[in-house]
Order: sequence, then structure tokens, then C-alpha cells
Amino acid sequence: MKECIFCKIAKGEIPSKRIYENDNFFSILDVNPRVNGHSLVISKKHFENILDMPSSLGPEFLDCIKHTAIKLIEENKFEGFNVLNNNFEVAGQIVKHFHFHIIPRKKNDKLNFFS
Ligand code: AMP
Ligand code: ZN
Repeated sequence: MKECIFCKIAKGEIPSKRIYENDNFFSILDVNPRVNGHSLVISKKHFENILDMPSSLGPEFLDCIKHTAIKLIEENKFEGFNVLNNNFEVAGQIVKHFHFHIIPRKKNDKLNFFS
């Protein structure tokens, strides 16, 4: 897994500004944001996708999602957010290391994920 970009970020080999972290997850701003504040919640260990991640880590994962979203909302006055996760290439997964996207939303931002 030497070449995995998110493993390198997790280990601090590539610098990143963390929004939040707990024992098994951390969140950072996406390097290519679709909207202002687009963030990623990433596992510290290498799991390829949601099927590969142990269900026992679910509560900690949710903790990271919640704290990241609350921080984004409080600091940027966002009004809501979407949580998205791509699994396998056919579904748009590019980085094969478990991560969820948090997409902050504002009224009339005209984002539509289903058309
Ligand atoms: P996907 O695998 O399609 O669910 O999305 C991978 C996401 O990771 C994309 O939105 C990229 O912009 C983002 N990304 C790739 N490399 C980095 C990086 N070094 N730091 C932050 N985000 C990254
Ligand atoms: Zn990895």
C-alpha cells in the first residue's frame, strides 16, 4: 500500500490540515473541491471501501462525520450538507481507500446529484 495517497496523508507523509480526528478517522478539505468546504472523512487504516471497513468502527466513523459537519456549518454558515460515498470504479471511486465526502449546502446553490 506504499503508493496510497490517503495512507500517506494519514501517516503525515503528505501534509494536510485536519478539520477533526478521532482514533480511527480524520477529516480534511478536498484538494479539488466541488463546492466551498467540500471535505473528506478518511479512515486512518487502509480499507478499500465500505465493504472492507469493519462494522465495529461505525460509531467512530459517525462521530467523525458529525463533528466535521458541525465544524463546517459553524465556521462557514452552511445551511446543510450531503454525505456521499463511492464504492468501486463503476460508482466513481478514484481513491481506493475508505472515505466519505461531506458536501456543504446553501439555499439556491443549484447542486443536484441525481440528474
Ligand atoms: P472518490 O474516490 O471519487 O470518491 O474521490 C476522491 C477524492 O479525493 C476526490 O474528490 C479528490 O479531489 C480527493 N483527493 C485526491 N487526492 C487528495 C489529496 N491529496 N488531498 C485531498 N483530497 C484529495
Ligand atoms: Zn490507503
